[in-house]
Amino acid sequence: MAKIGINIATGSLQQAEMIVGIDLGTTNSLVAIIHPESKQPVALKEHNGSSLVPSIVHFDGFGNPTVGEAAKAFMETDPQNTIFSAKRLMGKSFRDIKENAGFFTYKVIDDDADSLVKVQVGNQFYSPIDLSSYILKELKQRAEHILKTPVSKVVITVPAYFNDAQRQATRDAGKLAGLDVLRIVNEPTAASLAYGLGMNKEEEKTIAVYDLGGGTFDISILRISNGIFEVLSTNGNTYLGGDDMDRAIVQYWMEQAGISLEELKQNKELSQGLRLRAEEAKKQLSGQDSFSVDWNGDQLSLSRETFESLIRPLIEQTMQSCSNALKDAGLTTADIDTIVMVGGSTRVPAVKNAVSEFFGKPVNDSVNPDEVVALGAAVQADILAGNNKDFLLLDITPLSLGIETMGGLMDVLIPRNAKIPTKVGRQYTTQKDGQSDMRISVFQGERDLVKDNRKLAEFSLKGIPGMPAGLPKVEVSFLINADGILVVKAKELRSGVAQEIEVKPQYGLTDEEVEKMLMDSLTHAKEDMQVRALVEARTEGEQILDVTEKFIGKNASLLTKEEITATATAMQVLQLALTMDDKNLIHTKIEELNEVTRPFAERAMDAAISGALKGKSITS
Ligand code: ADP
Ligand code: MG
Repeated sequence: MAKIGINIATGSLQQAEMIVGIDLGTTNSLVAIIHPESKQPVALKEHNGSSLVPSIVHFDGFGNPTVGEAAKAFMETDPQNTIFSAKRLMGKSFRDIKENAGFFTYKVIDDDADSLVKVQVGNQFYSPIDLSSYILKELKQRAEHILKTPVSKVVITVPAYFNDAQRQATRDAGKLAGLDVLRIVNEPTAASLAYGLGMNKEEEKTIAVYDLGGGTFDISILRISNGIFEVLSTNGNTYLGGDDMDRAIVQYWMEQAGISLEELKQNKELSQGLRLRAEEAKKQLSGQDSFSVDWNGDQLSLSRETFESLIRPLIEQTMQSCSNALKDAGLTTADIDTIVMVGGSTRVPAVKNAVSEFFGKPVNDSVNPDEVVALGAAVQADILAGNNKDFLLLDITPLSLGIETMGGLMDVLIPRNAKIPTKVGRQYTTQKDGQSDMRISVFQGERDLVKDNRKLAEFSLKGIPGMPAGLPKVEVSFLINADGILVVKAKELRSGVAQEIEVKPQYGLTDEEVEKMLMDSLTHAKEDMQVRALVEARTEGEQILDVTEKFIGKNASLLTKEEITATATAMQVLQLALTMDDKNLIHTKIEELNEVTRPFAERAMDAAISGALKGKSITS
């Protein structure tokens, strides 16, 4: 059912809420959408303003936050209360950032090395999630103001190397900002999408995404085939970017003007002031040959040639990372089909030239490098909104997902390579009479026995009302949402008792581990099949013994003495067969026991018992 809303500002009818793409950057953040008419991605900007919102939060004396350009102004005048680069702190403990603690001009709490970092402003403490949520809130408000419609559904990008904790932290920041984060997308993937790469499913390509931002450098090698992006390798430096170019310029000017480092350290206003002039110089030198500005009566100037010699080592370092990334992916520059330039710092001509020289090809730089990630996020958002039906298959499950059933077998609910989002349900039943708890153990992997797979989660469905074995109907459903989160629900259908749990299937799994699990399943396929058949036979045998025993106990009066003896003998024989590793023998003995009991079982057919004989049951 489509929802139609009315735009309060214009009075016009409008479509269901738009999903927007957000680049939550270390230095700058922005929002992009697919333009409803042109169908092209566009970055949102206020009238003749910039699309970029500096990722900076300033707190005033009352702890009220200001975000963006207005906050950036305080970098110079109020550095202790002006938080920049909060993204670097996402999901980090103080131990993680200790080496670079000097980088932050504000107070990062360091009394407990292992817990997640917080930032202190006045007497308030803020987590990186809080800080990011202020930026996201600002982006949401801006988008709503520009679009004149509520905005809550978003796609947010993160660096390809972000681990699960950092991705989760980003998602949490979104939630705090009142956003429904439909998906977290890798920045290089988004940038590729913005160039239309991967939109043609026939196309197989190997892409290098070179992203030099304000404070970070990332090189990612991606492969697209069948519309699926795979990160082959990433490399880079989380403390290398345009800011370092600015610092190199500041240093140069200090030498020129005879300012000592001590002086600069003493005077944060001076240092920030110089920094801002340096950035200005750098940007201008991307388009012209020289820069000069009057500053407190002094002349600060810089030629492009000098600038390029200042940043040469920095560029060299990024080229070294490119080599490493290629090596890790097992590729050479000749294997790279396309090079995508991302990040404001790739506007520097010397950077572009070096990259194109390294790969031996011209680079893709036609899309605005500081908007390209957000634009790609908008493309992804549009795909999620279902507006691009040819291109739904962007994500698949790398490994099968299932639950443990009797005998430690893996019962697969969602097979590997299933498209997500997806939902699957299956019914199970209890094994014992009056069983009130059912344990649901969720596993990931391709092997037939759960012990060879990876356990993701476990929970118990409690409070199943007392019923004979086999009577409860427990529906277990697996739902993987667009974000890759698995929600497992168990519900006893007769009584309605239900329980659910959320799991992240990819948690902590590297690509190599996924590959290894797949390889293992292939090498063990035959052995697994035999084990599975044996376990299934044993389980069946045990159930039959159980049911038969109960039946005799309950219905002894209906049976002749001979029947009871014959049954007991057949049961003993089956019991013995169960201890041997021979599934055929077990099947034969099950059949023999059935032969003996069939006549009287037919006489007193019990729905509950026949129910228990059918259907799978989970261990209690
Ligand atoms: P991030 O991804 O870290 O948020 P961006 O992609 O927005 O960063 O890049 C910001 C960096 O790009 C800053 O260091 C800024 O000075 C630099 N930058 C922006 N425009 C230019 C330009 N014209 N020339 C050189 N550097 C630029
Ligand atoms: Mg960026």
